[in-house]
Amino acid sequence: MSHHSTITFAEATDIAREIKNIAYNLWWTWHVDARDLFRDLSPQTYFRCNHNVIAMFDEISDQELAARLLDPKQMSRAQNVINQYNQYMSENNTWASKHAGEIIRSGPVAYFSAEFGLHESLPIYSGGLGILAGDHTKSASDLGVPFIGVSLYYRQGYFEQRIGPDGWQQEEFPNTDPKKLPLELVANKAGDPIVASVKIGHSDIYFHAWRINLGRVSLILLDTNREENELHYREMISQVYGGDITTRISQEIVLGIGGVRMLRAMGITPSVYHLNEGHSAFLTLELLRELVREKGKTTAEAIRWVRQHTVFTTHTPVPAGHDRFSEDLIRFTLQKFCTECWDDASDIMPLGRVDANDKEEPFCMTVLALKMSRAANGVSELHGRVSREMWKDLYPNKSVDKVPIGFITNGVHVPGWTSSRAFRFWHNILGEDWPDHLDDPEFWQRIEDPEFISDEELWALRYVLRRELIEFVRTRLRQQSARYGNNPGITFDRILSTDALTIGFARRFAAYKRAPLFFSDPQRAKRILLNPERPVQIIYAGKSHPRDDQGKKFIQQLVGFAREPELFGKVVFLENYDINAGRLLVSGSDVWLNNPRRPLEASGTSGQKTAIHGGLNVSIMDGWWREAYDGGNGWAIGDDSHPDSIEEQDKQDAENLYDVLENQVIPEFYDREGNGLPRKWFDRVRHAMATLIPQYNTDRMVEEYVRRYYINNKSSAK
Ligand SMILES: *Cc1c(COP(=O)(O)O)cnc(C)c1O
Repeated sequence: MSHHSTITFAEATDIAREIKNIAYNLWWTWHVDARDLFRDLSPQTYFRCNHNVIAMFDEISDQELAARLLDPKQMSRAQNVINQYNQYMSENNTWASKHAGEIIRSGPVAYFSAEFGLHESLPIYSGGLGILAGDHTKSASDLGVPFIGVSLYYRQGYFEQRIGPDGWQQEEFPNTDPKKLPLELVANKAGDPIVASVKIGHSDIYFHAWRINLGRVSLILLDTNREENELHYREMISQVYGGDITTRISQEIVLGIGGVRMLRAMGITPSVYHLNEGHSAFLTLELLRELVREKGKTTAEAIRWVRQHTVFTTHTPVPAGHDRFSEDLIRFTLQKFCTECWDDASDIMPLGRVDANDKEEPFCMTVLALKMSRAANGVSELHGRVSREMWKDLYPNKSVDKVPIGFITNGVHVPGWTSSRAFRFWHNILGEDWPDHLDDPEFWQRIEDPEFISDEELWALRYVLRRELIEFVRTRLRQQSARYGNNPGITFDRILSTDALTIGFARRFAAYKRAPLFFSDPQRAKRILLNPERPVQIIYAGKSHPRDDQGKKFIQQLVGFAREPELFGKVVFLENYDINAGRLLVSGSDVWLNNPRRPLEASGTSGQKTAIHGGLNVSIMDGWWREAYDGGNGWAIGDDSHPDSIEEQDKQDAENLYDVLENQVIPEFYDREGNGLPRKWFDRVRHAMATLIPQYNTDRMVEEYVRRYYINNKSSAK
């Protein structure tokens, strides 16, 4: 559009309406032109609303928005976004249409997960499991796989984290307002909400559903907050993994049994049910009940049918991490449901027991999921192996390597995790269609060549991203400090150096992830951080589950180091880790640190988000990194083994971490050639990009799920 053409107010009003509509599809969160347009329409409002554009548009009148679009530059950006959106939504030539027509003909994948990490404005996840579900969904849309996600609408979600003056984590649960989120009530043709119910104990619990649009696919969130329900049941779903064991099983009943009923009420017939972790495994009981009670099948026939239509992904490598319910609790909550199909709730117990005849065994959701699915998988090669070992008793006639649990290694949805700066950097280097080539190793191979992308270009990118992170951290710490109003002498304007090697560590503060490992030997850690010639700084973030005091002690310990005068401004704990903070951390850090107690990190995904930003991983050989590391695309802490004793392991890993930092990572970063750039470092960065990006992404991962698990009706265990 030329500068001289005039836009009428009526035209601008129409475009404003279309733009507001697009905000109801999270498509905008992984398309950089849309993301940046929304940001620039009102930057301060956008940041204050934590990038929640529905909340933002709630504050901007149609008049104001239209007025902003009278600016020809904004208008042409808006029209470009509308065109891109319409093109995406009407695209028929997708990966699935070319390679998996069968699934398009047979019906959608119904993907059940207790959490979904989609965007910073939707706190309905607690960690990696949810992030994986969200990334899986976005790639399903990009690939054209028919797909519907099912989860719960947690009104308060997962908490907001504050760090108190004593360094102890505090939790705040603000209520979200569905009207200020990208949610649409699921309604029938007459416009009335679709309502379904489940029985828990002696009560009927009613629920409706909210739809979230993600590109071409959607996700429904079940919500029991209805007037017909007793208060207790209205509040049952307010928090992610909140409440006691009765709340837990009740949430899982709504998710699994309620989820199937809502799909039926919406007229959706899935071709396959995918259980992302065991939380939703009760859905298999509802499918059984339908077949026996409504279709007149025998139990044996019904079980065979359910198994043919269910696949299961397990995520938990420790026995104690799997949901288990006592027979009493099963009877208390599920008696009424069960008598529609069985004599008594106790009749379902064998389905959740490794030894069906062992009356002492509780009901395990993972066992139910394994018994009722045609295929099961772990989320990395090592995790697959650990899972086969853990569940071998379920398959007494098979040797451990024949236990039918395979693996598909996790990935990340790369466009969603790429910062806007990096996105545009790649537009210039690779062309604007680079997100369409994530499953093409040859496309990324070119990056190995310094003629294709130079040290200078990468250095420029790293500086921009590092500064963006550091300014974000300074602002956050200023706000945090102002809240307590007791540090008048402290300035946060100068903390962290924009030139120093910056290490990032952010994830849930579960004990096995060993957040404070780097401080195992505080003197040695300080020697590394305080070296004046080769300065190193480290930024931590992460939430501890409200009931996990060990995790909270870890946070307090790190906050303590951050407050020591000599470490102030070199060690930082950033509060309230979320998807936005995560995106900034994985893009601004030069090194991403991952030091779990092996083999407890089933996959891990945060390190996969760094490669597109030119960051490098330093990690224990666990989960995905054990498969990804090739000697030149990052660094390993220790090797492909671990001692049996935890004390010994922690000691060895700390020693190996110091060694790799002191002898390899830090020297390579500070080894500058005549031109002032770390040449070997950038060879490593280029190699990391070429090898990691095309492999550890959810396009590759979802393609594997489609080929091996969704369309293959034969048991395809491995
Ligand atoms: C990627 C991500 C995770 C998962 O991190 P892991 O290192 O795999 O545990 C958790 N939370 C957020 C906000 C993330 O972005």
